[in-house]
Amino acid sequence: MTKESKQTSGYPRARISPPSGEAFPYRHILGIEGLDPSEIQYVLDRAMAYADGEKGNARLRGLTQINLFFENSTRTQMSFEIAGKRLGADVVNLATSSSSIKKGETIFDTAMTLNAMRPDILVVRHGDAGAVKLLSEKVDCAVINAGDGQHEHPTQALLDALTIIRRRGRLHGQIVAICGDISHSRVGRSNIRLLSALGARVRVVAPPTLLPRDIDRMGVEVFWHMQDGLKDADVVMMLRLQNERMQGAFVPSTKEYYHFFGLTPEKLTVAKPDVLIMHPGPMNRGVEIATSVADDLDRSAIQEQVGNGVAVRMACLDILTRHLQGSTA
Ligand code: ASP
Repeated sequence: MTKESKQTSGYPRARISPPSGEAFPYRHILGIEGLDPSEIQYVLDRAMAYADGEKGNARLRGLTQINLFFENSTRTQMSFEIAGKRLGADVVNLATSSSSIKKGETIFDTAMTLNAMRPDILVVRHGDAGAVKLLSEKVDCAVINAGDGQHEHPTQALLDALTIIRRRGRLHGQIVAICGDISHSRVGRSNIRLLSALGARVRVVAPPTLLPRDIDRMGVEVFWHMQDGLKDADVVMMLRLQNERMQGAFVPSTKEYYHFFGLTPEKLTVAKPDVLIMHPGPMNRGVEIATSVADDLDRSAIQEQVGNGVAVRMACLDILTRHLQGSTA
């Protein structure tokens, strides 16, 4: 199957023009869906080099990166900003709360306005699934999806994979239990795709109310009880209840949810002794995770995830701007 024919079947098949090289022949990073294992591995290899201390050598000098976040963010926005600056880009953050979006401008008019200022790369987060892809079709530059509704959060999945590989040496064959609000989580969705593509054994653990309807088609093992889903797990990835995306109540109470699905030292006894504990943040302590687990210095990789986020975002910015690098110096 050629790249062109795959573009029509997969979600994010925007082919780069001019190409940045065959290893990653796309103009945008909109999701994990549609990427080949070798393409994912290529991004991870670049990220690994940055995580190992490779300097950016001002590769993005003279290039303009705009961060356009229509939803709240701490880690993702900051790490994209730091990543861009480490690579020498001119980084601009549009504060949507004080922009014309508040005056009723549509995201497409905002995108066209920004496009007229000729940025080289746009990093976009939006509350609606698919909005970032639509926006990418209206602009001339590369676009990175920093989270669109409950759909995808590709750079989070990439940084999670990088964290597992750095800690465990490999992804292939690792038993990864993703627990909590699978239904509303873009992190869960992107991770299921990426981890499965690279050969991990992915489990999801959640009450039936927090499982997506199409879970049977996602190629994962499904568990309703933590003691079953965590058995012999190498990695446990906890997800936050995405209350902002819920209409109505999906759990009886947070107290009851914590009792059955909150990650505690007791529940972890069935996992591998050196199990890796992960969480994309922000954490709700006492809801999906106990403080003693989150702060377990030996087993928690939560702070490493944040650090690896910068390396992954440097890799994405670098790869998507290859054809521009050096042209403005
Ligand atoms: N920060 C992640 C996201 O933007 C996870 C979360 O918010 O729970 O999806």
